[in-house]
Amino acid sequence: MDTMSKKTFIKNYQSKYRELYGEEVEFGSNQQRYEALGSLIREMILKISMDTNKRYNSTKEKQIYYFSMEFLLGRLLGDTLLNMGMLDVCREGLKELNINLKDLEEWEQDQGLGNGGLGRLAACFLDSMASLNIAGHGCGIRYKYGFFEQKIINRKQVELSDNWLREGNVWEKRRQDKAEIVKFGGDVKVENVDGKLIFHHINYEPVLAVPYDTPIVGYRNKVANNLRLWSAEAVNNEFDYSSFRRGDFLKAIEYKNSVELISQVLYPEDSFYEGKMLRLKQEYFFVSAGVQSIIRHYKKHKGDILDFDEKVALHINDTHPTLVIPELMRILLDEENLSWEEAWRITTNTVSYTNHTIMSEALEKWPVDMFKKLLPRIYMIVEEINERFCKSLWGKYIGQWDKISSMAIIADEYVKMAHLAIVGSHSVNGVAKLHTEILKKEEMKDFYYFYPNKFNNKTNGITHRRWLIKSNPGLTNLLCDTIGESFIKHPTDLLNFEKFANKTDIQEELGRIKLENKMNLAKIIKNKTGIIVDPNSLFDAHVKRIHAYKRQTLNCLRIMDLYNQLIENPNKDIIPRTFIFAGKAAPGYYLAKNTIELINSIGEVVNNDPRVNEKIKVVFLENYGVSLAEDIIPATDLSEQISTTTKEASGTSNMKFMMNGAITIATLDGANIEIHDEVGDENIFIFGMNSREVLNYIENGGYSAVEMCKEDKKLERTVGDLINGKYCQDKNAFKSIYDSLMIYNDEFFVLKDFESYLDIQRKVDETFKDARMWQKMCGINIAHSGIFSSDRTIKEYAASIWGSTLLYKNL
Ligand SMILES: *Cc1c(COP(=O)(O)O)cnc(C)c1O
Repeated sequence: MDTMSKKTFIKNYQSKYRELYGEEVEFGSNQQRYEALGSLIREMILKISMDTNKRYNSTKEKQIYYFSMEFLLGRLLGDTLLNMGMLDVCREGLKELNINLKDLEEWEQDQGLGNGGLGRLAACFLDSMASLNIAGHGCGIRYKYGFFEQKIINRKQVELSDNWLREGNVWEKRRQDKAEIVKFGGDVKVENVDGKLIFHHINYEPVLAVPYDTPIVGYRNKVANNLRLWSAEAVNNEFDYSSFRRGDFLKAIEYKNSVELISQVLYPEDSFYEGKMLRLKQEYFFVSAGVQSIIRHYKKHKGDILDFDEKVALHINDTHPTLVIPELMRILLDEENLSWEEAWRITTNTVSYTNHTIMSEALEKWPVDMFKKLLPRIYMIVEEINERFCKSLWGKYIGQWDKISSMAIIADEYVKMAHLAIVGSHSVNGVAKLHTEILKKEEMKDFYYFYPNKFNNKTNGITHRRWLIKSNPGLTNLLCDTIGESFIKHPTDLLNFEKFANKTDIQEELGRIKLENKMNLAKIIKNKTGIIVDPNSLFDAHVKRIHAYKRQTLNCLRIMDLYNQLIENPNKDIIPRTFIFAGKAAPGYYLAKNTIELINSIGEVVNNDPRVNEKIKVVFLENYGVSLAEDIIPATDLSEQISTTTKEASGTSNMKFMMNGAITIATLDGANIEIHDEVGDENIFIFGMNSREVLNYIENGGYSAVEMCKEDKKLERTVGDLINGKYCQDKNAFKSIYDSLMIYNDEFFVLKDFESYLDIQRKVDETFKDARMWQKMCGINIAHSGIFSSDRTIKEYAASIWGSTLLYKNL
């Protein structure tokens, strides 16, 4: 990378500012200064993009397209500067102009086009693909409104719209010239031409898909890949003008509104599927636009359609983009005139699929009526795929009709998206070892026996560039000073830090860095909530989506129990703690919203009770998102990863915390298992039921929450505190949580794991007393976190799923 000198930067920046605002930068507002800096950087990236594309077109290397309904990017300025190698020059240059880079960074709106882990994974993967010199691009939706903004009012969550584009977006470029038409509804007319059936899609409603491109810059390697997000617009041709001429003005407006609704807003549900027509429209909209534009680009550069699968890989992030499969078939059959067999060979060789959850409430299935009406031609193709698949099952499972119908793609008047994704792809991967084993042995075992070679594991990862180097500069400096800079390009070199974890001066230094990060977070907590917390207390963070399976309630019950104990025994010897919660509940998920109210209510009682508030504080930080995570994670001592075993497919915040030197308290679920394997028993706090025990209860029953409470008086009392007015005058305020435990028999085994959780928390306190010991554990966690870089994950995808070429050039 031709890094710029400070002098040149200042000159270019000043001139950019003048060009935009017609005055000198010293008179500008920070927002204008941010805009000017963003535009300057965006222009510099343009050159990198052009060079990258030229290279891709001439070398004809395989292009990977990552289709995802969500990309949770957060802010781009800081990370882009880091990857361009311009962070220092820019910071120093601005300083000479009396400008603080951090003040500008804060003007950037988080790009929050995702719910949580799944969307953030897509963002980490984009960063890793670009940084590893892999020709990998994103394809998604440019939602006008991202994930809602959360406010806490009277202890409750209130949702506001996330108007993230209000001030514009310096990183994107609208490409009207690359727009595509996506067709909805209408009929299919079949014509027989010389014995060949020709399909005409008629009377459809056209939607114009306009792409907005955002460059994704690799780490100091002159690569800029592309994230293409599609926006839905009315087609400006005869269609609406003809209604207009007929005086049917309202109809034209109605059409425009219904079209724009498609990319209006992100569905705020995580791990829960709602069969709304608009959602199916969104899915087909971006998939169709994406596949059409990929094929158009491929043919423009003289690609032979019969080699498509050798030159292109299409990856689908969960089942949301599964319509890639029938859409590619449609184009190959109807537009490229290939035979079914050729089209099927190309499609299945091209597509690969990642499964993200085994929870049945999250599995997508679309009513046949809705599907057929919205996508008549696509439905015909899915029917044909289903018929051929079922025929192949008949050969293997003679007379086993139950098995065949349970595996069918279309059954009971539903189209099952996961089945279509498995049948129409060449690779199905889970996201952590345990999750993949459960897919193979339980959830998808029939498919695994039928297609044993399709199934594989790719344990998730996180980009260490954003989650360590950018968000924790103090720790990064210590690492560079001790083990050198090689871990930046080769994160597993962090292992070299293990021997330093034994040294007392390093342990002290780790403690000092953590304290500084905690003081920063304490300031943020004070600004946002007014609550004053002690940076010397143990910072215990439980931050993620609010969901029953993530068991924020288990943490709540434990705090409620601790509160009772401190009241009864004021001299009880405990480590002072700050309990930090953050996370959004889906707007329609009552139990999760009730949990937020409980956390805030506990906070109000505990924080205002002078008998305990020197020892414990409970904080809920509103509007959790990528930027807030970047402040919380480097300041955390204890990382709460306490999902019901088998329910958290992988988790990724567990990895972010580990990399920043927090110790994990965890069930043996998802990637926690692999973290445990890395650091060993002594450097993690494991508790709770294992997967065998949980699956056994789920399959065979035998668990009684009422019995649990009868046996454990302390537990009974704590659960009773939910409905006795202790945390809210309205005794019914937390009735839904109480009922989920006691009436609905505690589906997520909160009470079952309670005692074991308390025990291990006592061990946490014991361990934290020895500050050096604790910091040594942190050092070992940091040292072993390298394999959780998404660079490792992406190398595995590239080598064993995508077959991408030119891997690791320049590295
Ligand atoms: C990493 C991340 C997540 C995923 O967290 P889990 O604890 O793995 O569920 C969710 N939201 C944001 C903003 C993140 O950065």
